[in-house]
Amino acid sequence: MNNAIFTFEKPKNEEVKKYLPGSDELKLLEAELKRQSSMEIEIPIIIGGQEIRTGNIGKVVMPHDHSHVLATYHLAGENEIQMAIEAAKEAKRKWERISWLERASIMLKIAELISKKYRNLLNAATMLGQSKNIYQAEIDAACETIDFLRFNAYLASRVYSAQPFSTETQINRLEYRALEGFVFAVSPFNFTSIASNLALAPALMGNTVVWKPATTALLSNYYLMQIYKEAGLPDGVVNFIPSKGSDAGNVVLAHRDFAGLHFTGSNSTFNILWKKIAQNLENYKSYPRIVGETGGKDFVFVHKSAKPIEVATSIVAGAFEYQGQKCSAASRAYIPESLWIEIKSEIQRMLSEIKIGSPVVYQNFVNAVIDKNAFDRIMSYIEEAKYSPDCQIISGGNGDDSKGYFIEPTIILTKNPNFKTMQEEIFGPVMTIYVYPDDKYSETLELCDETSPYGLTGSIFSNDKYATVEACAKLRHAAGNFYINDKPTGAVVGLQPFGGARASGTNDKAGGHFNLMRWTSPRTLKETFIPPTDYRYDYMK
Ligand code: NAD
Repeated sequence: MNNAIFTFEKPKNEEVKKYLPGSDELKLLEAELKRQSSMEIEIPIIIGGQEIRTGNIGKVVMPHDHSHVLATYHLAGENEIQMAIEAAKEAKRKWERISWLERASIMLKIAELISKKYRNLLNAATMLGQSKNIYQAEIDAACETIDFLRFNAYLASRVYSAQPFSTETQINRLEYRALEGFVFAVSPFNFTSIASNLALAPALMGNTVVWKPATTALLSNYYLMQIYKEAGLPDGVVNFIPSKGSDAGNVVLAHRDFAGLHFTGSNSTFNILWKKIAQNLENYKSYPRIVGETGGKDFVFVHKSAKPIEVATSIVAGAFEYQGQKCSAASRAYIPESLWIEIKSEIQRMLSEIKIGSPVVYQNFVNAVIDKNAFDRIMSYIEEAKYSPDCQIISGGNGDDSKGYFIEPTIILTKNPNFKTMQEEIFGPVMTIYVYPDDKYSETLELCDETSPYGLTGSIFSNDKYATVEACAKLRHAAGNFYINDKPTGAVVGLQPFGGARASGTNDKAGGHFNLMRWTSPRTLKETFIPPTDYRYDYMK
């Protein structure tokens, strides 16, 4: 038996590859893109390591070429969802009992497989199935997935090593138990890394998982399951059930052994799930852990001391990378009058250069939004702004879904700081700008704080320290990730633990030890060396 006390060294973040024209790494990725584009795979349900085909079929298509089918998948119904719960419970008997180091070793092997052997597989699937360009796929599917795995192993060793004090008369210990029951992981379409982390962070801490992926991200998510298997993740630790959201939610959340929800997605879905949990509360064996990271209405706030070119760059990159489909995407900006003309002209210059289209044409900065529902929802916000007397569209404003779901990067200028698009999450390439009088800096900070129900990310651009400090203070609760002179997107695991409060979620910080703590239920053990033999206190004798 290996009884060594073991801690992991602090890992390095996975290096982001560049894929320069003519490079070997680009040639290999291109070959993989070609391979995946020329076939149609079948995606089964995976329960207890067994592949299950229900014949209730859906299709995975390229968002940028929606007649191109990449895969057909089998949808799980109530029966399969119940089976997945039973498989998770069965697998837990052994999984929670092995040393956490053995679990971590599987996670690190998954990271290594993705880094070396399956990087192109996962990046290509994310590019084709979720319409991400090379850079966006690389920082997500490869780098962030690997970073979550390596940093979580390191952080788990810190969680497990936190112990209470002992004295000469007693030993006190904390035993870090997995939650009693199973964990339900529900993932969004927009990050392959989040899909991986939602299931594997609880698994690292000894839990077993029923995982409901988003059906629009199934290609990359199915390949994740195959990599887990090759790395030696035992059958039943993660059970993969592509299904209609409400089907999975209704069955899983009614189960007595439901022990925790690890969710990332929209605020409205999270609210539905939380309410369902509340309705079922009396049925559960334990109070379930509820971890949810949801939407954002992320802002760029500009002080008159800022540099216009830096602001314009952060707005263009922050709002339009991955078509604005990041929870952290900049989607509202507050700009002082004195800088507006210059910032506007810089933004318009950059947008005039931006190309839109397929992610496999490398010059395209903007690709397609995920599906028809997203396309229609985003366009309806743009249409409303077009006809509002409060707004003017100063860039973009058009969409075309004939081949793929393409929407131009769109900038709305509004006179009304409470206009709908200043408040609601659109989750598309739409930025709304409000220009404020320079002498109303403090009042406008308060306005920014109160305009939207969300509190995820935001940034201040300022070269005046007093103004920066004031923004940090006034916007204290407006963002869980706050950036100074940087765009509000692009959090890196280990460097900026990610999450927000208010309507943006429970702020348990994915990629931090806070998150891992939610998947363990500590037991305190006190051992007394010489037990007392008289019940009376000294003063009674
Ligand atoms: P979504 O809420 O539509 O779906 C998320 C997941 O929930 C999907 O798997 C979906 O099928 C499932 N679902 C839907 N209804 C369900 C139900 N009744 N029961 C169980 N599952 C159900 O979100 P999406 O469109 O996939 O992702 C975009 C959203 O995710 C945005 O709001 C974005 O801001 C948010 N997001 C947040 C973060 C963060 O860290 N805060 C990160 C990424 C995405």
